[in-house]
Amino acid sequence: MAERNVIIIGGGLVGSLAACYFAKRGWKVDLYEKRQDVRQPEHSCLVEHRSINLAISERGFSALRRLDPLLEARVRELAIPMRGRMIHSLDGRQTSQAYDVFGKHINSVGRNALIKILLDAASSYSRVTLHFSHELVDADFDSRRVTLRNAETNHQFDANADLIVGADGAYSRVRQRMMTKVMMNYSQTYIEHGYCEFSMGPTNGEFAMSPNHLHIWPRGSFMLIALPNPDKTFTCTLFMPWRQFDLIKTSAEAVEFFRAKFPDALGLMGEESMCAEYARNPKGSLVYVKCSPHTYKNRAVILGDAAHAMVPFYGQGMNCGFEDVERLDEIMLNALQASGIESTETTQLTDEQLLSALDEYSATRAADTDAIVDLALDNYVEMRARVVSYSYLLRKQLEGLLHRLFPTVVIPLYTMVSFTSIPYAAVIRQWDRQTLWLHRSIYAATATVVLGTGLVSAQLLGMRMPTLSEI
Ligand code: FAD
Repeated sequence: MAERNVIIIGGGLVGSLAACYFAKRGWKVDLYEKRQDVRQPEHSCLVEHRSINLAISERGFSALRRLDPLLEARVRELAIPMRGRMIHSLDGRQTSQAYDVFGKHINSVGRNALIKILLDAASSYSRVTLHFSHELVDADFDSRRVTLRNAETNHQFDANADLIVGADGAYSRVRQRMMTKVMMNYSQTYIEHGYCEFSMGPTNGEFAMSPNHLHIWPRGSFMLIALPNPDKTFTCTLFMPWRQFDLIKTSAEAVEFFRAKFPDALGLMGEESMCAEYARNPKGSLVYVKCSPHTYKNRAVILGDAAHAMVPFYGQGMNCGFEDVERLDEIMLNALQASGIESTETTQLTDEQLLSALDEYSATRAADTDAIVDLALDNYVEMRARVVSYSYLLRKQLEGLLHRLFPTVVIPLYTMVSFTSIPYAAVIRQWDRQTLWLHRSIYAATATVVLGTGLVSAQLLGMRMPTLSEI
């Protein structure tokens, strides 16, 4: 069979991982990224307008492991374990909430460091060519053609591929072009909150706070969080309604706000540094996108944020994008095995087999990505408000206990999302079932206590109890 080629648009986290997977499965890969190569020292700040660090958890690691266990090990080496949330009260009290009763944890990893590892991994395949400073201008899937522009020379040219992969982020042009071809259900929603990042330096050469926690200052309608970096700094992110950002214009107003709401964090950041960063650092918007299908015939597929941008509150955007790549690979490999071909090179799939593999991917994946988009949104309320409510803490304790006793029967929501690969849509179904049983058990327990108390009181008062037949 003639060599098959894939064009990947977008050399972010998901596109670079997809490049590795396709190359491993025998495809000739051309990846086009509109920015310059972040591995060049002079461009190393190019991705820093997003979060500086990210939480990576089981789904992300699983995709790295399937590609190459050594790659997973390299990322783990850079990652700082975060074993729980550290809740900072207004009075400076800190309360640790473990993520998992068996000690499982999420991990903080630098965005730049991770992308560099993935681009290096992609470059190590002779079948991969990385083209930086190349922007997708247009795509004609029926003629398997994309139009690209070299940003350095302004030269515009066409390139052809058997398959076109859109990993070009939340504002994906590949997705836009796909929408003109398929009846795509699509929604894009901005939430009313934005974010701004701050840095917190070391204290006496050491981390200023526990490095093994994700720190949260929950304040109801807004919150500050902090994730550790290997250089003993923290990256803090303030998530807040835009109207509140609009009220803080001067340094004096910023200091007044931080003093009132995050006095301990302000002490560790330093007023001068906080003010400089508040004035200088961009305020980012938060958008989520749902769409379906994710594919067009056997010609194109969108992965990562291009298919399902989400708000960052479950730390799952990248993890989910990595899982997309893993799922697609699994489905293509299964299709190969089902056809009896003894090879791991998915280039061997016929056009029909590739079509049914992509159809299966889109049909199953969209439900899962919609589910995590919803869960991510809901987790914002949990982080900024629910984490300090008694009912939340009680349920967490109860579920933790039940999970310890019946680890496969009762699984807390956070554990299912972050420490398993249970499909996201199934996570929501299981969570709903658990909630129902938990409520029923609480009602049953309450009824038993009330009835029991009634019976004991009646006996003590010498009242005759009705027999069963009388009831
Ligand atoms: P992107 O990272 O957006 O990459 C897309 C690439 O495509 C870019 O490099 C872009 O330059 C390129 N591109 C775009 N258009 C074109 C074009 N026309 N031609 C060529 N190239 C193009 N996720 C987690 O899992 N854990 C976290 O803790 C986490 N924290 C986050 C915190 C914040 C504040 C934010 C905003 C997001 C966070 N995320 C997190 C989400 C995560 O950043 C994204 O899900 C992830 O970056 C998606 O990767 P991607 O490759 O799909 O898209």
